[in-house]
Amino acid sequence: MPIYEYRCLDCSRVFGTLILSKADSEAVSCPSCKGKNLKRLISRTFFHRSEADRLSEYDPQSRQPDSFYKDTRNIGLHAKKRAKDMGIELGESFEAKLDRLRTDPGSVLDDY
Ligand SMILES: [Zn+2]
Repeated sequence: MPIYEYRCLDCSRVFGTLILSKADSEAVSCPSCKGKNLKRLISRTFFHRSEADRLSEYDPQSRQPDSFYKDTRNIGLHAKKRAKDMGIELGESFEAKLDRLRTDPGSVLDDY
């Protein structure tokens, strides 16, 4: 779901809102002062978490929500976490393969 963060330039409140259409984005107003003088922020929480963040938050012992498995950015996270915990360097070819798995899974399967 595309959730965007805005800062109200009138009262400085930061809030997130779900935007499903262009009409939604034009109708956004500040929940505090109803101001329309808004600046869209780059969301820190939803789309721009780095892999380092994902790795440090990932707990191999716990069951992940279904959304975790649908997010291709999480492919290989388990292997990387285990390797990191054991002090193993997976190397550049592993990283390259992982990148392809995450972005174009078909191309990796074709290798076998
Ligand atoms: Zn405001």
